[in-house]
Amino acid sequence: MALKHEFAWSASRHRGFEKCRRAHYYAYYLSWNGWLRDAPPQRVEARTQHKLTSLSAVAGSAIHRVLAQTMSEPPDRRMKEAEAIDRATRELRQAFGESRDGLWKRNLSKFTYLAEHFYEEASVATREATAEYGGRFVERIRTSLHNFFEMAELAVVRDASDEQLIFVEDPSPSGGFDHFDYKGTKIFASPDLVVRDSEGVARIYDWKTGSASRDDQFQLLTYAIQAREQWGFEPGSVRVFDVYLSEGRVEEWDVNEDAVAEAEGTIAASVAAMRELHFAADTDLGDPERFPRIPLDDPRAGACRSCRFRRLCGREG
Ligand code: SF4
Repeated sequence: MALKHEFAWSASRHRGFEKCRRAHYYAYYLSWNGWLRDAPPQRVEARTQHKLTSLSAVAGSAIHRVLAQTMSEPPDRRMKEAEAIDRATRELRQAFGESRDGLWKRNLSKFTYLAEHFYEEASVATREATAEYGGRFVERIRTSLHNFFEMAELAVVRDASDEQLIFVEDPSPSGGFDHFDYKGTKIFASPDLVVRDSEGVARIYDWKTGSASRDDQFQLLTYAIQAREQWGFEPGSVRVFDVYLSEGRVEEWDVNEDAVAEAEGTIAASVAAMRELHFAADTDLGDPERFPRIPLDDPRAGACRSCRFRRLCGREG
């Protein structure tokens, strides 16, 4: 049965939509059905570039997956630090090899295709450059997982019993986003871990493997809304934490009625703006001009240099 194109919202879609409307069009409209044998070339190209990832993102996913695998086990069978680092590092190396050897040509959904290879970046141009570049992410994996196993603030996570775990991210390679219905809109949201503490409070954790961003608090507030809608926790019974694993730092954000109401207002405005541009991509390529590029003279156009769609968009080089 053919997949049906439908409207959905997530905090990361919102972030991308705010950053560049054209990238939103390529990712959620032009790439649709790009997997079909008889798909028009522009759909295939958009899908290929939408599927590109980066070694930094692969390292982040590997850390997330290992932590999800760890937390999916009963406390006495959870991984130790060395095993976690070994698994995540092997995943990074495997993904790099898949991309370098072109396995993605067989199945773009199953195998990794790095933007570094697609765009023939200097970071992977020679053996020496690749070793130096890859070494950075091996180090990030080591530091992040070491911090997870050492940070005193995370003892409540590491020692959580099965009964205390409300939600653990799906650790399978195909693990998708959880979703819930919010005022008639499908919302994709998937915190990394939700633990009920001894006071009955839902503690929501988001593992961060890169640097902090001003959007981090908003993302956690969407999880607080999810906790209320999906698991019945009112804002007063929720605490939210960003864990910057590579820095070994935890940031707790305030969850109160006002903060949640403000986040709900942002979601409502974002959903309305996206719906205004929405069309059924199953049957229509739409009008890309309704989704403008970032103007070249806008300081935000610096984002084009690392955008995965820069070839399709004519902003390569
Ligand atoms: S290259 Fe720039 S303008 Fe084009 S989609 Fe990417 S961010 Fe937007």
